[in-house]
Amino acid sequence: MVSNLNMNFKNEVASRAGGERVLNCFLCGTCTAGCPISELADDYNPRRIMRKIFAGMKEEILSSGEIWKCYQCHTCVSHCPQDVRFADIIRTLREIAVEEGKCDPKLPGKVAELDARHRKELLAEVNSLVGK
Ligand code: SF4
Ligand code: SF4
Repeated sequence: MVSNLNMNFKNEVASRAGGERVLNCFLCGTCTAGCPISELADDYNPRRIMRKIFAGMKEEILSSGEIWKCYQCHTCVSHCPQDVRFADIIRTLREIAVEEGKCDPKLPGKVAELDARHRKELLAEVNSLVGK
């Protein structure tokens, strides 16, 4: 709904640590093309998140689960021709979502736990492959 749009949202993101380069984005989609989560999930799309930021769709971005699917691998950061640093923008969006009560306050801790567990399992499996 047009009444739910917040056209200042991109400036709000730009004013926060990690979001400073958001206005550099020209929506080329390179971030989505290299994103390992986008490869796994059709409903995760970094370029679409950027487009929603520019369209002022603050409520939709913060309330959807999309921003919590990012794996923080930083592939998008290394590929971006505009140095937008999308992984940092995701972190900024998560911070705003928590501050404004748009998600379960325990969600950041649970996602961090999952991430730590996954890294531990990955390391154990690699160690078993290389005989350590
Ligand atoms: S964040 Fe970078 S790679 Fe992604 S759409 Fe914007 S300019 Fe392109
Ligand atoms: S940091 Fe997130 S958005 Fe960027 S490539 Fe990795 S999973 Fe995708």
